[in-house]
Amino acid sequence: MHNLGIAARPTPRLGQPVLFRRATVVTMNPHDGVLRDTDVLVRNSRIEAVGRHLEVPANAVVIEADGALLLPGFVDTHRHMWQSALRGVGADWTLGNYVQWIMIKWRHLFRPQDIYAANYMSMVEAVYDGVTTVLDYSHGLRTPEHAEAAVDALFDVPARARFAYGNALAPDLGWVVDGRVDDMLDNRFSSTDQLVTMQLALDGISPTDEAKAALDFARARELPIISHAGVFKAYEDAQIAFLHAYGALSPSYTLVHGGALSDESFRLIADSGAHLSISAESEDSAGQGYPPVSQARRFGVPISLSMDSVAWWSGDMFSAMRATLNAERAMVHHIAHQQGNVVVNNDTRAMDVLEYATLGGARALGLDDEIGSITPGKLADLVLLRNDTPVMTTVHNPAGHLVFQAGRGDVDTVMINGRVLKYQGRLVGVDLDRARSLVAQSVEYLRSRISNAEWEEALIPPPYVARQTWRSQSV
Ligand SMILES: [Zn+2]
Repeated sequence: MHNLGIAARPTPRLGQPVLFRRATVVTMNPHDGVLRDTDVLVRNSRIEAVGRHLEVPANAVVIEADGALLLPGFVDTHRHMWQSALRGVGADWTLGNYVQWIMIKWRHLFRPQDIYAANYMSMVEAVYDGVTTVLDYSHGLRTPEHAEAAVDALFDVPARARFAYGNALAPDLGWVVDGRVDDMLDNRFSSTDQLVTMQLALDGISPTDEAKAALDFARARELPIISHAGVFKAYEDAQIAFLHAYGALSPSYTLVHGGALSDESFRLIADSGAHLSISAESEDSAGQGYPPVSQARRFGVPISLSMDSVAWWSGDMFSAMRATLNAERAMVHHIAHQQGNVVVNNDTRAMDVLEYATLGGARALGLDDEIGSITPGKLADLVLLRNDTPVMTTVHNPAGHLVFQAGRGDVDTVMINGRVLKYQGRLVGVDLDRARSLVAQSVEYLRSRISNAEWEEALIPPPYVARQTWRSQSV
């Protein structure tokens, strides 16, 4: 067996065809399923062919995959990339702690260059981890200069992203129609032939004139929308009822979390075709509401997965799949036990969460015609795992292996839009050193504006306190 990650291989040049040979191809294409000993040929940004014993084009680079898992790149449908310089600070935070520190106390500290540094690092991290498309839920953009910086960073790494323009720090949604979003659309997003596309991230939606104007604007400009929703004691059923009554829910609307919503809200969401983004790592710890996998599946609401913010939790989509499946199965068993029953067969399967993490994300972004599965004609966003580590010996159940065995350290090769950006475990044409330097400068500045006492208090929240309610403008 050829061992990935050990044998030296020539690095594919831009524009050179690439043939992955004899991989275990987890296509996520319902017609093909998992294909063993299968070749995948990529040419000119697209998957040209999937099959056995494909002919090798002249000047192609052949990657001898030898049974390694090849899957479509992960799609994260909700990540606050602007917070990534504060990585891990909130490991013990609840949602209330997060709102207190980042969204109230520290939000004003972020300069445009801090947004740039965090977004740039976050893009590099995504590539490194096999997350080939990220929705940047960019809700810290208090000025147009902050927004420009966010977008600059997304464009400066050749990976796929959806810029979701947000400003949760504003008193209302009037910013959507004051010209800044139009300017951004005209100046940076007039072409559809680019890796970064744009939509809106709207928080604080209620039946106000500003919210109605923002929703009207999105409809007129055909901009998809993402919103936090179904967050316990923050955004509940009234938000969904308003969006429904105003005719704003549609297949281009994604609702994040959803655990605090009633069955009636789920029925309205399902009828509209809107999508759900479940952030199980976040919901498990922060308390937005229980990851509503069962409800979404029962009503037929399409699911995608997301990481929320690396200021709290990981950016690891393997972990997202695990957290989602663990939460769902634990609850199903728990409910059955309370009723004196046992669960004989698990309903939600590893392949289900793998679909949520790939094709489900592509669907939520309206990109499933182009990405999300390994299908001839689609754009080549691919992730090849190593085959020579203990955990990769031996792969009997590919989907289960991806969910419960594999991790970020197993990501060998990452291709986005047909271009190899990680090869043999190392980034290619993506500047990690620059990202690290920018983040270091940003952290130095941010920490200089926060007292040591406050920093320590943030890192170590006081012991458990229950409150009946808390409210905030922004989550
Ligand atoms: Zn969020």
